[in-house]
Amino acid sequence: MTEIVLENLGKKFGEFTALNGMNLTIANGEFVALLGPSGCGKSTTMNMIAGMLDPTEGEIRFSGKKMNGVPMGRRGVGFVFQNYAIFTHMTVRENLAYGLKAQGESASQTKRRVDDIAELLQLTDLLDRKAAGLSVNILQRLAIGRSAVVEPSIFLLDEPLSNVDAAFRSVMRSELKALQRQFKQTMVYVTHDQLEAMTMADRIAVMDHGKLLQVGTPLEVYNNPVDTFVARFIGAPGMNLLKGHVGSADGAASVDLGATGRTKVVDAKSKGDVIFGFRPEEVKPDPKGELHMAVTMVEHIGARTILHLMEGQHEAKAVLPAGSDVPNQGDIFHFNVPGTAVRLFDATTERAL
Ligand code: ATP
Repeated sequence: MTEIVLENLGKKFGEFTALNGMNLTIANGEFVALLGPSGCGKSTTMNMIAGMLDPTEGEIRFSGKKMNGVPMGRRGVGFVFQNYAIFTHMTVRENLAYGLKAQGESASQTKRRVDDIAELLQLTDLLDRKAAGLSVNILQRLAIGRSAVVEPSIFLLDEPLSNVDAAFRSVMRSELKALQRQFKQTMVYVTHDQLEAMTMADRIAVMDHGKLLQVGTPLEVYNNPVDTFVARFIGAPGMNLLKGHVGSADGAASVDLGATGRTKVVDAKSKGDVIFGFRPEEVKPDPKGELHMAVTMVEHIGARTILHLMEGQHEAKAVLPAGSDVPNQGDIFHFNVPGTAVRLFDATTERAL
């Protein structure tokens, strides 16, 4: 097991800064997801941890030992990419055994460990099949198994599920989490899919434009995003963000949302212009609610109903609680947002207040 420390880590490609001043400590056996949109610097960070890229600034340490300049082969990392090269002429068993043989593991140990990992990843029935004939889903599962079987102290996965289909992705999310629990490796997982990060990671590092914006448990980043970018990026749908104005009415702080209405807030730390944030899941339908918006679309996604709402310059979404009356498109929807669910952001800097 290994602790990873990134200290003021930076990477420039010529004049372009792909990563700037990243500080992050990943504990022994922790599962951290690097989450952010395409181009935010996730893969660059990962490639520097792996030893495939040299930082232009800062330091990488594994359990206190400086890693800058140490080649990939000597870092003890396992790496799974989006498209991992499997040896297609070999069987599943030969692929899984490859790294163990290279390490000089005995035949009996190799067999035992290959059998164990095959069982964990549901590959047992396929052990004697040639990799060439297997589906993309199975090949990716095999790629993960092949890296995991050698039990690297650090396991790096860069979007390993982006090419597998949706149903398989959800199965693999549980399997990867189980794999990590079993091996207790330090795991860094790159993804642009907030659901993957939310469901698997102990902590999520949210990145944008080469910067680390926030690190926290999935609930921390969901409940207390540091800015409107994180608020929008986490959650499906993301947080609603409406321009408003904090003032006092009847002696209590409240937010004026123009045509949408006016609602009390529990703890308005500032007066003046704000961005009023609330999760679609926190919307409470109420015919006498303080807020109202027109329904522009009703989406039924399995058991969930999502309302698309609009009023003046404001747009929002609401996830209706099970058993709610579902309004029709064109109706005016009245609702409340509980004061404890309100998040306020500075109107100019867009940082949480
Ligand atoms: P994606 O999910 O699309 O891979 P990412 O968050 O992993 O995105 P990176 O691959 O780390 O992003 O890239 C960050 C930025 O650095 C991008 O703008 C990319 O174009 C740029 N970049 C990456 N590698 C190089 C390189 N070798 N030379 C020049 N620019 C690069």
